[in-house]
Amino acid sequence: MNGPEHTPPAQSFGVCPAPVGSSGTILLGHGGGGRLSADLIARIFRPAFNDDSLDRADDAAVLALSPGDSRAAFTTDAHIVHPLEFPGGDIGRLAVCGTVNDLAVMGARPAWLSAAFIIEEGFAMDRLARLAASMASAAREAGVRIVAGDTKVAPRGAVDGLMICTAGVGFVPEGRSPHAAGARPGDAVVLSGPIGNHGIAVLAARGELAFRTGLRSDTRPLNSLIEQLFDAGIQIHAMRDPTRGGLASTLNEIAAASRAEIVIEEDAIPIDDEVAAACEMLGFDPLHIANEGKVVAFVPEDQADLAVAVMRRHPAGTDARRIGRVQGQQIARVLLRTSLGPTRIVELPAGELLPRIC
Ligand code: MG
Repeated sequence: MNGPEHTPPAQSFGVCPAPVGSSGTILLGHGGGGRLSADLIARIFRPAFNDDSLDRADDAAVLALSPGDSRAAFTTDAHIVHPLEFPGGDIGRLAVCGTVNDLAVMGARPAWLSAAFIIEEGFAMDRLARLAASMASAAREAGVRIVAGDTKVAPRGAVDGLMICTAGVGFVPEGRSPHAAGARPGDAVVLSGPIGNHGIAVLAARGELAFRTGLRSDTRPLNSLIEQLFDAGIQIHAMRDPTRGGLASTLNEIAAASRAEIVIEEDAIPIDDEVAAACEMLGFDPLHIANEGKVVAFVPEDQADLAVAVMRRHPAGTDARRIGRVQGQQIARVLLRTSLGPTRIVELPAGELLPRIC
């Protein structure tokens, strides 16, 4: 099982150095949403739980309680972000929005959430109250109810402050079935706005940037924007929120599930100047940086302009763009046509760029 040891190249700042699949213990990179995460799920969880819904690798399972019933989407999420509060959000808002968005990208109308709190002994009560109020506010914004919860307290040092685990249920109206395997040749790839803001804002909040930035996380619920796409009659074949692992992971997951060759245009992908500057300084690829308020949708070519227009009318999608297309189904891969002309393969992040980003 052990692969060859190797030292990371000097420029791979912050990237987990272990080769994929080489370790008998859990590495930070196993939680990064990239190749190591996929390897862990394939090796441990899929064989252990052995369920079709998990094999589909979607953001939520879509199920009916009994045959013929309307379909429910069901998802779960854990949040360990550090710091707990950052410009544009906090762990409470993140927990609600992440769960709501994983339901919405499956075409569901999110309805109910649960939240379990694992709190470190000594955590300030007024801070907990502030984070709970932030969760409640995000839930109101998304139009969902938090209807079940649990509280555990771990001794000092056993948890770093606070972790939140959520689950969410939503209902999928007839005729909607976006899923990771749904992308088709000719589909246009539409993105709701600039990438990388969440990851870089959290990094800045840790004091890890050498310059000051006004950057804010994009953490927000996307269900109302997605609802408007369906209301406009857009046939969404595949859709996902590019969170941990960034746009690169999301597109690679859809490419793999749909056996699609996706080509994206570097010049078409919106990136804010401060995000671009931070990435350049740290040697990060913005395509690998987490977002918490963006959605990428695969739609029929003749509906792409309408999808962009609908997104732009919504406050969460004012900078929406068409960024690429599915050009075939021979090879499952993601290609980036760069500003300078040549095309390169967009890889999954191998390890963990930014631990505890969500
Ligand atoms: Mg997701």
